[in-house]
Amino acid sequence: MILEARGLSKRFPWGRGLGGARAWVRAVEDVSLGVAAGETVALVGESGSGKTTTGRMLAGLEVPSAGEVCFRGRPLDALAGAERREYRMAVQMVFQDSQASLNPRKTVAQILDVALGARGVPGARRREAAAELLREVGMEPEATFLPRFPHQLSGGQRQRVNVARALATDPAVIVADEPVSALDLSVRAQILVLLQRLQQERGVAYLFISHDLAVVRSVARRVAVMYLGRLVEEGPTEAVFRRPAHPYTVALLSATPVPDPRAARRRQRIILPGDVPSPLAPPPGCPFHPRCPIAREVCRREFPPPVEVGDGQRALCHFPGELKAGPGRAD
Ligand code: SF4
Repeated sequence: MILEARGLSKRFPWGRGLGGARAWVRAVEDVSLGVAAGETVALVGESGSGKTTTGRMLAGLEVPSAGEVCFRGRPLDALAGAERREYRMAVQMVFQDSQASLNPRKTVAQILDVALGARGVPGARRREAAAELLREVGMEPEATFLPRFPHQLSGGQRQRVNVARALATDPAVIVADEPVSALDLSVRAQILVLLQRLQQERGVAYLFISHDLAVVRSVARRVAVMYLGRLVEEGPTEAVFRRPAHPYTVALLSATPVPDPRAARRRQRIILPGDVPSPLAPPPGCPFHPRCPIAREVCRREFPPPVEVGDGQRALCHFPGELKAGPGRAD
């Protein structure tokens, strides 16, 4: 694995609880996940499931409360000097908000200049290197875009600049956090095609964070599903979409639009009761039990084990595969 989470947890302080004791939000709990060279792994889940915090820890933007991030098999804590710098260059992040992630006071040329400088590209070479990057992400003629400020670009163009900036350090992995969800449908498709082309040409791997399962199915080879800070299911994308084993995955997929209207009519939508519990006080036993349609007594008492349900597919559930969403659920 080129980038790996091993038992990662993250807790944030959240005021004071009963008796004045410090309260903690458990944003991520014991997540293990790896991204191999040149592959796309998707991290999916509802808002607040912990997927962004997991991505930020893998990109070095958050420090884990427990567990470790490994780069090419070595824990980040053990990296210093040139190795640490190599990690910083090799792992980049693209954010959902293309506007907020670009400095509004710098032109596209200046933004790319900073990133190229970090990689050690000599000053005299940077203008041409920036132009090359813009050509690579489909922003031509590049002379038109280099002098522009972010507010003078469309949302799709800004996201292309973000991708170009990430590419400036010649990364091995890009953590892409909802990179297309703020874009119009047609622009969304263009950015997805761009990311796939760059993967073919450069061999870059992606950790693709998204709540959009239709997009995930089209881009990712493997998928990991998060609920309340935990990884509840993981496996090859097609296997998880065809035979979801965790009841939460089944419910998520049952709400995904399907192109065939007949399949959509036959499909049984699973509506989960209640809201996602507070990460300040997750339920005992299985964290999903208050909303699970097939929860039993053991689920309320005992934390479920990870169960292997297929080739490389695992679910954190006492009764994996028991809940079905009916015909046409994912096809
Ligand atoms: Fe549902 Fe029980 Fe599985 Fe949790 S362990 S998802 S409550 S069946």
